[in-house]
Amino acid sequence: MKNKLIYLDYAATTPVDPRVAEKLSQHLTMDGVFANPASRSHMYGWQAEAAVEHARKQVASLLNADTREIVWTSGATEANNLAIKGVAEARQDRGKHLITSHSEHKAVIDCFKYLESKGFEVTWLNPGSNGEVVCEAVRAAIREDTILVSLMHVNNETGAINDVYEIGRILKQKDIIFHIDAAQSAGKLPIDTKTLDADLISTCAHKIYGPKGVGALYVRRRDGFVLPAQIHGGGHERGMRSGTLPTHQIVAMGESFEIAQVCMSDEQSAIFKLKQMFLDKLIGQVNFKINGDVTRSISGILNLSFPDKDGQTLLSALPKLAISSGSACTSATMSPSHVLKSMGVGDDCALGALRFSFGRFTTEEDVISAADMLKSVLHRMT
Ligand SMILES: *Cc1c(COP(=O)(O)O)cnc(C)c1O
Repeated sequence: MKNKLIYLDYAATTPVDPRVAEKLSQHLTMDGVFANPASRSHMYGWQAEAAVEHARKQVASLLNADTREIVWTSGATEANNLAIKGVAEARQDRGKHLITSHSEHKAVIDCFKYLESKGFEVTWLNPGSNGEVVCEAVRAAIREDTILVSLMHVNNETGAINDVYEIGRILKQKDIIFHIDAAQSAGKLPIDTKTLDADLISTCAHKIYGPKGVGALYVRRRDGFVLPAQIHGGGHERGMRSGTLPTHQIVAMGESFEIAQVCMSDEQSAIFKLKQMFLDKLIGQVNFKINGDVTRSISGILNLSFPDKDGQTLLSALPKLAISSGSACTSATMSPSHVLKSMGVGDDCALGALRFSFGRFTTEEDVISAADMLKSVLHRMT
């Protein structure tokens, strides 16, 4: 217990909810439901298939989708790859222009860089200073040959929320495929595929108290559109994604999504109070800037810059806090976060950025101690 940290890095991953861990452990051993869901010749296989299909219902339910629209993947990275490369491949005869933003997760950015190398043309949008990619920017970038727009619902560094409902309406009119990376929003903000005009939505379990290594892609059923597989073999998941389904992971993801659906709105308001409490402890006490807009971002994420301070130095002075810096360590040199850069945050502020992210198991005590530690370190450094 001596080495216990205050965990404020929920945007990187969440601990698995004990209820979810319990379910997961019931799907591993001989006395559990462990079989290959594709085994059609015995009851163990049928039981595993039933467990997977129940989880598919739980995930579909959170998105108000049909179970036939859910494709299991190994996580949001794979879901993004399947969606983006798949659409590019399927629709290249209609055009080779794609739209995304500079503030996406690397799992999206690198797919588009890859497609650029294959002859596609990408328009890279910048978010505004609050981190949001606005509808007008999307509308202005659309061309005759645009086939795909990919934007995240919630940004993983700043918590900024894009108005995907409005953007979806624009794209639907133009018959352009809309992919949303919802890794940070599923189970936290309402996603209703009956009113949200998205064709593809990436989710994963480990940002919402499920295990790492499992995710799902929502694929809207539309006439004449087949999403080509990126991983071949066996023809699982109606040909879109092959590979033996990890029953235990999938069951756990289903459980985590069902729990989220039940407690989403209460949990989000409780977490927002914690974020506000943390901020209240700092305001007037230390010099900081908020990267993003507290009222137009997801409740669990807070990105702060401490001008003229170095994020890495701050992190090492806060060994009891499990948090992230806003910069990426590439080899020996520190480079400011591409997300903060895209919002126009200067290098001096971007290098001094820290991301605090709160979640289901964060307590008021955690928040108060974390704010106190931060204050004393900053006071010592000035
Ligand atoms: C975590 C995250 C991913 C990657 O998800 P994995 O399941 O870890 O592959 C993609 N996009 C966003 C916005 C994320 O936060």
